Amino acid sequence: MSIDTIIGLLALGALFALEGWLPARPGGRRLRHGARNLGLAAASAVVGALTAPLLVLATELSAASGIGLCHGLGLGWAGCALLTFVLFDLWMYAWHRLNHELPLLWRLHRVHHTDPAMDSTTALRFHPGEILLSALANCLVLLALGMSLGMLVLYKSLMVLVILFHHSNIDVPGWLDARLRAIIVPPSMHRVHHSDVPAETNSNYGTVFSFWDRLFGSFRLRADPAQIRFGIGAYAGDDWQRPLRLLRLPLEPTPGPLRTPAEASR
Ligand SMILES: [Zn+2]
Ligand SMILES: [Zn+2]
Repeated sequence: MSIDTIIGLLALGALFALEGWLPARPGGRRLRHGARNLGLAAASAVVGALTAPLLVLATELSAASGIGLCHGLGLGWAGCALLTFVLFDLWMYAWHRLNHELPLLWRLHRVHHTDPAMDSTTALRFHPGEILLSALANCLVLLALGMSLGMLVLYKSLMVLVILFHHSNIDVPGWLDARLRAIIVPPSMHRVHHSDVPAETNSNYGTVFSFWDRLFGSFRLRADPAQIRFGIGAYAGDDWQRPLRLLRLPLEPTPGPLRTPAEASR
């Protein structure tokens, strides 16, 4: 088991306990909700494990052949580490945005957005197809950046902590959330991203750093975050939340025209 997976599982356990103690919203059937999300996450974890060697291969190929931005610029170890960490997060922003703007990618990514009760387990609710496409695209980006395996593991370890935190249903004090928001994506931003209002879903694409959304005009907050309704209206029903149904969701006929949140908000 990789170090980022171990960190993720420990953090998930801690956050799930905190959500029971200090919930931002009263929890419903937390265990059933979590088990369903983790059921889908198990299928995605298999794809993640099968594609992990490809990511390792990309970093080794880059190091051995000198391919990639880092090698081309002749930066030292520290410069290279910092540059690839920040640029990989920019890539995550761009990939997430593409998942909202391209209909084929949205069919897969909407599985993440159909959760009507967001909590830390939602951070792992991704369709295996999205994990596969993301891993293949990541290989190309790792080669283009010349990112080392060590930096990739460090990025993924930090990323899993941030995404578990910003999906969590913890009642984070406003002052703390605001301070964190200066650097990372906190719950106040990502809860807006999970709103069932298309214009809000179409905002706050950041993964780790919050400044990409400010830079590219997709930053958005709600004055009344407690009133945000999570999910996608057409798929809010309980039956849509079963793991096997979620696996089939990308192929399901859609009620009404298939529109990405980006198209719907225009
Ligand atoms: Zn999204
Ligand atoms: Zn999310």
